[in-house]
Amino acid sequence: VASEHESSASVAALDGWTPVYSGKVRDLYIETPTSASTDAPSLQTASRVLVVASDRVSAFDHVLEPGIPGKGELLTTLSLWWFDRLTDVPNHLVADHELVGSTVREVVPASVAGRTMLCRTLDMYPIECVVRGYLTGSGWKEYLETQSVCGIALPAGLQNGDRLPEPIYTPAWKAPMGQHDENISFARTAELVGPTIAAELRDLSLALFATAGAIAEQAGVILADTKFEFGADRHTGVTVLADEVLTSDSSRYWDAEVWRTGTTPETRMASFDKQIVRNWLSAHWDGAGIPPELPTEIVEQTAARYRELLERLTGA
Ligand code: ATP
Ligand code: MG
Repeated sequence: VASEHESSASVAALDGWTPVYSGKVRDLYIETPTSASTDAPSLQTASRVLVVASDRVSAFDHVLEPGIPGKGELLTTLSLWWFDRLTDVPNHLVADHELVGSTVREVVPASVAGRTMLCRTLDMYPIECVVRGYLTGSGWKEYLETQSVCGIALPAGLQNGDRLPEPIYTPAWKAPMGQHDENISFARTAELVGPTIAAELRDLSLALFATAGAIAEQAGVILADTKFEFGADRHTGVTVLADEVLTSDSSRYWDAEVWRTGTTPETRMASFDKQIVRNWLSAHWDGAGIPPELPTEIVEQTAARYRELLERLTGA
């Protein structure tokens, strides 16, 4: 979202690539058309897109200052690691090298290698496919008011951070630029993308969550919740897993041992994600005007937690 809170670091110029979109965290580029072409470059017509992850951090839909050093690379590494393990569902990655004559050429510019994914451009569904195995965050808030989340009734007496009887699918509508995403019912997703796709997105999300949760568990990490995004392949219409997957930006991860032994919500949810940033911001900002700058220790703690998650999961 390009707003007055946009990180001061402007979008990098990449030789041969044209920036077409800047999200809160990532910048999208498509190949600059050859001079012979008269069409304006657009994401709607490009077959490949570079998804470049910056170090920008957002909380409550605001981009904060400063960024978290190394974050773009950590999140990209984690996404790629997960894509490798989620082979039951087609994903948007395409080969990042190609043969020119008899030499192999890297397609991704060296200056952003490590924090960039080369992807096929999809027609994205405007749905954030959220799955929750545990109750917290906006789900917990909604539960307190209605004892349900996105229309799904839950047992009484749950606490913040509790494990749910089974993972639930709680989609959100991806609001256009500048607006806040909005939790919606499954029925509403069927109105937005049709009943067949709505059911497919739900079933894929729940299956991916189960697979990923089991992998995380082996590393002593709880995958509390996450958000997937999908798009349609432009030629086949096949539903493809897109965006980042199971990163600490799109997911909540907790230390399993700490969660088991903790006695309060705060001591149970030792997070590997940007909860540190959310917590600091809610304690130091009332939501009006421009958010305050993050103190150095919060930046460092967040970077350390992101690194630790990657080490725990991947063993790297
Ligand atoms: P935020 O995620 O911060 O709420 P955002 O989604 O607008 O905002 P980013 O996540 O920073 O911004 O940018 C990534 C954008 O790229 C998203 O809009 C996402 O839907 C889109 N995207 C991801 N993969 C693909 C793909 N294969 N084809 C087309 N668009 C994609
Ligand atoms: Mg996004």
